[in-house]
Amino acid sequence: MIHYKTKEEIELMRISSQLVSKTLAHVALHIKEGVTTMQLNDIAEEFIKANGATPSFKGYGNPPFPFACCISVNDAVVHGFPVNEPLKNGDIVSVDVGVFKNGFHGDSAYTFAVGSIPEETKKLMADTKASLYKGIEKAVHGNRVGDIAYAIQHYTEKERGYGVVRELVGHGLGRKLHEDPQVPNYGKRGTGAKLREGMVIAIEPMINLGTKNVYHDKDGWTIRTEDGKPAAHYEHTVCVQKNQADVLSGFAEIEAAEKANPNLCSDY
Ligand code: MG
Ligand code: MG
Repeated sequence: MIHYKTKEEIELMRISSQLVSKTLAHVALHIKEGVTTMQLNDIAEEFIKANGATPSFKGYGNPPFPFACCISVNDAVVHGFPVNEPLKNGDIVSVDVGVFKNGFHGDSAYTFAVGSIPEETKKLMADTKASLYKGIEKAVHGNRVGDIAYAIQHYTEKERGYGVVRELVGHGLGRKLHEDPQVPNYGKRGTGAKLREGMVIAIEPMINLGTKNVYHDKDGWTIRTEDGKPAAHYEHTVCVQKNQADVLSGFAEIEAAEKANPNLCSDY
């Protein structure tokens, strides 16, 4: 069942989503060679709690996800477990954060690059981020979920030859982290649930440099590419509106932090 949000609820979701963006920007300032993803997780958790919210992911699912953030490095696509292993020059690090505040969740993700990375990986990051906005363009009243899905798949897979992950999808969210409808990154135009004003969805392309195929790591959560090539992941929480989607999370502050941190690659 799809829960359509009132104006008041949308504003509460904007607060949660903006806090996610601020958390990602805060984490971005700390990413560098030698830091561990567990340290980044702890920095995020502390920031979320200091801002009067709780991390949405901690304790979510079965088995319960044990950490505040999903941090997925290189061939890890999503749902990565933070670990006590230092980041290296050339790693790409996808940080996915959800917060719960005032009864509502916000959810957003961003992929960072440590030091210098190959041109093809830079392009993967830029193209994955661009595909998110291709999807957001279609998140308007009267369209269907398949229009978002097609836009992302066409841009990444058809035009650029990347692998679009099939096993994981975007989703509605609100009082629950995952609500209807599912929002896949692949599909046919004009199919799926109808988009209506007040629907809040997380659009989140998960795009692999090589094969679309993935597998579950032994930890039970981390999803990795079958061929070991890198994957990128960008996500916004978006409210469907009449002429243009209202993007509740934001990348401006994260991108500013990315540029301000000399240990991150920002020219992609
Ligand atoms: Mg997320
Ligand atoms: Mg999500």
